[in-house]
Amino acid sequence: MAWAVGVDLGGTNVRAAQVDEAGTVGSVLSEPLDPGRSARDARPFAQLIDMIASLIEKAAGDRPVGIGIGATGPVDPARGVISNPDTLPDAYQGAVTQPLTAAFGVPAWLENDADAAALGEAWAGAGAGAGVLACLTIGTGIGVGVIRDGQIFRGTGGSHPEPGHHVVDPGGPACYCGALGCVESLASAAAVLREAQATGTLAEGASAADVFDAAGRVPALGRIVDRARAALCTAVLNLVAMHAPDLVVLTGNGHGDLAAVAEQARQQLRGYRFAPPGVQVRESALGGMAGCVGAARLAFTSGPGHD
Ligand SMILES: [Zn+2]
Repeated sequence: MAWAVGVDLGGTNVRAAQVDEAGTVGSVLSEPLDPGRSARDARPFAQLIDMIASLIEKAAGDRPVGIGIGATGPVDPARGVISNPDTLPDAYQGAVTQPLTAAFGVPAWLENDADAAALGEAWAGAGAGAGVLACLTIGTGIGVGVIRDGQIFRGTGGSHPEPGHHVVDPGGPACYCGALGCVESLASAAAVLREAQATGTLAEGASAADVFDAAGRVPALGRIVDRARAALCTAVLNLVAMHAPDLVVLTGNGHGDLAAVAEQARQQLRGYRFAPPGVQVRESALGGMAGCVGAARLAFTSGPGHD
């Protein structure tokens, strides 16, 4: 069966997978982002090229039909260019599709990682069959992708809207996006950890996961987690108000208990007059693989890649 490479390029890890045209995942490679290695190697995006070469080797010479990359943005899908100095090192900036096409002789595509995750869930995950799907990825930051009839919902000039930065509490913390109290500033793993550190109850080197673990025992941390969860539920309600989706999917490892967020959001929607009848809130079916699956989908459905 035809297969494509799906790459999920995040701020700390990069994952590459074989994905066939039915959306089934085969071999998966995952590595910490290695800016040092790429800086030593003259080839642009050397780490990605080496990982993709390993995947192709595992396929015993069966060539992929193309390569899709979902990268933490801002990215320019139309030109295949990453320009994200906030969360990616220097070696991961610039034209990425061109060197991959040159290395492997197949077309390549680039999308924002939240859009790629949403596309993956809509195609082969929790959202299969949904006409309109909104997918919230909760990690170090918060990304949202919206899929309508299999297509990524875009802004002007093909841009990626950033509902992860819509304001849910105008009196909330300042965010690098320029707003006060956006979803990311209240509910991302980074925000929860920052707030928790300010309480003085955390051990040195504690992570956001430690905050969620301790929330039931330490009231100050419990309040921070409750506030983050409330912000996420408000975000779900607002996405329902704005997009009238069939389904909202929650994914990512940046919140301790996604099932609890989903349940609280469902309860909130029951009292909301403008929720479409039957609208659902579900956890991801693909987990950490949604980005790779959605990126690979680009190779099966998109027009000509970049070369
Ligand atoms: Zn923000």
